[in-house]
Amino acid sequence: MKIKFYGTRGSIPVCGPDYLEFGGNTTSIKITRDNGRISIIDAGTGIRNLGRDLIKDGFDQDILFIGFTHFHWDHIQGFPFFLPAYNPNMVINILAMGKDRDIKNLADIFEGQMKAEYFPVPLEGMGAKFNFLQIKQNELMINDASVRVIKQNHPGGSFGYRLEDNEKSLVVCTDIEHGNSVRPDIVEFCKNADLLVHDAQYTREELQTHRGWGHSSYEQAIEVAERAGVKKLAITHHDPEHNDVFLAKIERDCQKRYPNCVLARDGMEIIL
Ligand SMILES: [Zn+2]
Ligand SMILES: [Zn+2]
Repeated sequence: MKIKFYGTRGSIPVCGPDYLEFGGNTTSIKITRDNGRISIIDAGTGIRNLGRDLIKDGFDQDILFIGFTHFHWDHIQGFPFFLPAYNPNMVINILAMGKDRDIKNLADIFEGQMKAEYFPVPLEGMGAKFNFLQIKQNELMINDASVRVIKQNHPGGSFGYRLEDNEKSLVVCTDIEHGNSVRPDIVEFCKNADLLVHDAQYTREELQTHRGWGHSSYEQAIEVAERAGVKKLAITHHDPEHNDVFLAKIERDCQKRYPNCVLARDGMEIIL
């Protein structure tokens, strides 16, 4: 399995010379399975580059799954700029899994952000065929790969994903707040993963003043990784206030405690 980060920034995209190393786009992750099939988690602003790369690579997959952790701006904002969605031969499955997922109408979310007041092209004008899959289950098999989700603590709710394919496992837990201590059910969900992608928007001190904002600290991300025994940890959802110098220092500190840990960068690829 290959994982490529397109967007590692949380909350809002940033740009400028202070953000060149870790990048400024918001969350989108490309997953390429061993059989070559590609799927995506989230459609933050990074999905624009992801789509351009797919086209450059001659992407001709019949059906593309985009699984969503939740629908805050920073996870959907790039969707109108995702070029493969303008291809009339493309079928895109917009997936929102989870027994306790509380969504009135999935299609409305995407139609809403492309209403004429906000964007010149309506959703139905893009060209691709969209299937909006609201699946009230925590487990699903998609093309012989197992996909599981877990409900996370986040304003409005968010879901972590676990993908198992060819004896490799990827867990993505972003936009997650643990509270005073790391949640044992999340640790269990991440157990022995080959790669854990975990939110850490804040330092321990910053978290004290951001209770209820829906995010984790670096220490908490590492604690989940340690307790779950994951092989590699990639920390993401960097705060827009944290520039390259700050994040590079945080990364060094994190690696002292958990050597197989990186702060995710826009364009970073990890092969499992
Ligand atoms: Zn977010
Ligand atoms: Zn969020």
